[in-house]
Amino acid sequence: MPTPDFAALLRAASLRVTKPRLAVLTAVHEHPHADTDTVIGHVRADLGAVSHQAVYDVLRALTEAGIVRRIQPAGATARYEARVGDNHHHLVCRSCGTIADVDCAVGHVPCLTASDDHGFTVEEAEVVYWGTCPACATARSTGEPVPTS
Ligand SMILES: [Zn+2]
Ligand SMILES: [Zn+2]
Repeated sequence: MPTPDFAALLRAASLRVTKPRLAVLTAVHEHPHADTDTVIGHVRADLGAVSHQAVYDVLRALTEAGIVRRIQPAGATARYEARVGDNHHHLVCRSCGTIADVDCAVGHVPCLTASDDHGFTVEEAEVVYWGTCPACATARSTGEPVPTS
């Protein structure tokens, strides 16, 4: 994936371009599905001392602006990704928590047509496929200990 122009993304969303915002966007872009702690680690490696709260605030602003997507599989910590706007789905490994992107099964405004919307205006559909990733399946079949996260 080519690196998008993060400053232009921020300006298009009427957000001021700041170093923490650029650093968070870069971290989320380079480490899809990273959790908050991972994002904080990368931002600190980039900028030096940045408070947890500052990173949380940036993640919230970027998520609200639609530049970053927040996903939270049941029982897992929130993860962030820069792949937005396509409403793609996720595969989640029950053993190690690995997350993979999966394109929607039916066309490109994916799954937004509920079979019965009960009058709701639907903005987003979330599908999570739970299972076992190849690494965990291999470990299991060879009797190796299954990694836990
Ligand atoms: Zn796994
Ligand atoms: Zn994703």
